[in-house]
Amino acid sequence: MPLSLPSQAADKRPVLFDSHCHLDLPELLPDLELHLASAKAVGVDDFLVPAVQSSAWLPLLALKQRYGFYIALGVHPWWASESEREALSQLEALAALPEVSAIGEIGLDFALDEHSFALQRQCFEAQLQLAGKLKKPVILHHRKSHNELVQVIKHQQFSQGGILHAFSGSFQQGKAFIDMGFKLGIGGTITYERAEKTRKAVKQFPLEALVLETDSPSMPLNGFQGQINTPAQLPLVLTELAELRGEDPLQIAKALWNTTAQLLNKIA
Ligand SMILES: [Zn+2]
Repeated sequence: MPLSLPSQAADKRPVLFDSHCHLDLPELLPDLELHLASAKAVGVDDFLVPAVQSSAWLPLLALKQRYGFYIALGVHPWWASESEREALSQLEALAALPEVSAIGEIGLDFALDEHSFALQRQCFEAQLQLAGKLKKPVILHHRKSHNELVQVIKHQQFSQGGILHAFSGSFQQGKAFIDMGFKLGIGGTITYERAEKTRKAVKQFPLEALVLETDSPSMPLNGFQGQINTPAQLPLVLTELAELRGEDPLQIAKALWNTTAQLLNKIA
């Protein structure tokens, strides 16, 4: 076989950035090297791994040293508690390290019990403030909380942007975040016909406002329900996005990779 063939084929294959995958969670960590290799074999070359709680911060820094992927440190709203709020005092020094690309995963989840809302808000507001101080972007979790997130971001005059992860919602809801300098994380949601509003919205957003993600091990794609999601599934999200938008997958991949890399390389 002529030597030029493999490199030509490689040039035509989209190179993808999984902007949200929890490779440090117990579902994925034991086979981490296998998951990285399977992802790379299908063109998924870069990864952002966001922490979900304080006990993950130091292990994630160690994993970053070893494997070189991007990381974000923070407390996810599902883990918001009195002790996690207290742990935030240690976040400032760690998150200031150049190895840490963003503050995350942070946000508000109003599908949880109402009793958790006050602590969720305290944790979110403190971490958003920290990101502003460190001039780093944030990785945002949302569920039934679009309006409240917008309110807090505006109130704090937070201007570092970030990613609204696992975007689902209307064009207007997405646009509110784009107008504040955020990118929308596009994942498995768009593979479900029932996500009509979201599928319609992703056709209308400017390409430079979008990034790709799997949210592994969560959010399996349509047809893979009940299975553990992995970054190797990301090309299927790209295919769906390209079909919805009627655009060339290679061009989309290139634009979205650039957007993600630019956002995460913005270091204070
Ligand atoms: Zn997540």
